[in-house]
Amino acid sequence: MTKSLMPVDQAIEIILAKVKSVTDIQSVSLLNALGRVLAEDQVSTIDVPPLDNSAMDGYALRFDDIAEQRLTVSQRIAAGEVAQPLVAGTAARIFTGASIPVGADTVVMQENVAVHDDGIEILHSVKRGQNIRPRGQDIRRASCVLSRGEQLRPQEIGLLASIGVEQVNVFRRLKVAVMSTGDELVEPGLPLTEGQIYNSNRYTLSALLMALGCEVIDGGIVKDDFSSTCDQLKTLASSADVIISSGGVSVGEEDHVKAAVESMGDLSLWKLAIKPGKPLAFGDVAGTPFFGLPGNPSSVFVTFCLCARPYLRAMQGVENFEPIFTRATAAFDWLRAGSRQEYLRAQVVDGKVTLFNNQSSGVLASASWANALVVVPIGGTVTAGDDVGVVMMSELGC
Ligand code: AMP
Ligand code: MG
Repeated sequence: MTKSLMPVDQAIEIILAKVKSVTDIQSVSLLNALGRVLAEDQVSTIDVPPLDNSAMDGYALRFDDIAEQRLTVSQRIAAGEVAQPLVAGTAARIFTGASIPVGADTVVMQENVAVHDDGIEILHSVKRGQNIRPRGQDIRRASCVLSRGEQLRPQEIGLLASIGVEQVNVFRRLKVAVMSTGDELVEPGLPLTEGQIYNSNRYTLSALLMALGCEVIDGGIVKDDFSSTCDQLKTLASSADVIISSGGVSVGEEDHVKAAVESMGDLSLWKLAIKPGKPLAFGDVAGTPFFGLPGNPSSVFVTFCLCARPYLRAMQGVENFEPIFTRATAAFDWLRAGSRQEYLRAQVVDGKVTLFNNQSSGVLASASWANALVVVPIGGTVTAGDDVGVVMMSELGC
């Protein structure tokens, strides 16, 4: 039975083949551009820095003027001031970020200089050209600083500011609906009665989506019945770019998501050889892409990160949308070979991996504790000292 489950890699391939990237472009101010995806290459119109400038507080001089006798100080140049050409045989008092005067080629840091009434004395040996940040060292005029398809992190925001960009063309945000199924669910903030649990999946998924830069549409809690499920899916399909549900996608009598989707659209896949998260569905509802994630909180986390996230990133127009997997050394044994590819919640510290002590799909604390997922392939086992495949949470945006 489990032999027929689709391998994860194949499922991701099928999912990614369905991506239709957004093409609508908006101009946003740089301060509102965090997490947005560039719609065009960013080419610098200037050199950064625009002029040679000092990397130190100290004295600018001509290297060949350094001799036995002291150099008098002929000008003082602070950052932002315009430097005069350097008088031959003299030094200029200079501060970090100030322009190097024409004629100077070297800066001596002030700690290496003794100041006397008749000039400065250089106390240490000096290298020609030292402590000068040359024009264009950071960015050259006409060079491409960032490419279309890059998602802007804080460092990219700063980089764009450094070339004077204030408005930037980005792809529009994706609107993603999050719908939670389950008669047992209650929203946080309300009291729990017997048999109920808090709806954590809505919050995990909304936060994952916000971290991706998506707009989240609240699809609410949907009762475990066929027609409520159909009604809500239909409503969401008309406003969202993508619908993500949790729960109700397994084979129990109270699971209606699969049948509801099939009645209004199509399922491209259902049930993967993945643990946690076997009952994952992907398809469309009246043409709107749909992910039916399992109900268990850790399964939601893993299947979103592995299967839905690359799809959404590709749809956002991100160029490098797949997470990078690395390797680390197991400091644990995992001796039960499984029939599904497992994603174990783990911590990687100094290249060594340890596991959370409870890998149950219902235990969300495992995902909170972890800074990585260990990948154990179908049929694989691990003994301490083995090299194992790992994906860091940072690669998954969390
Ligand atoms: P299901 O796939 O609907 O049978 O759900 C599997 C398990 O996940 C059950 O124990 C549910 O109570 C739990 N579950 C489903 N949805 C949520 C949710 N939104 N938040 C927390 N737990 C959930
Ligand atoms: Mg349920």
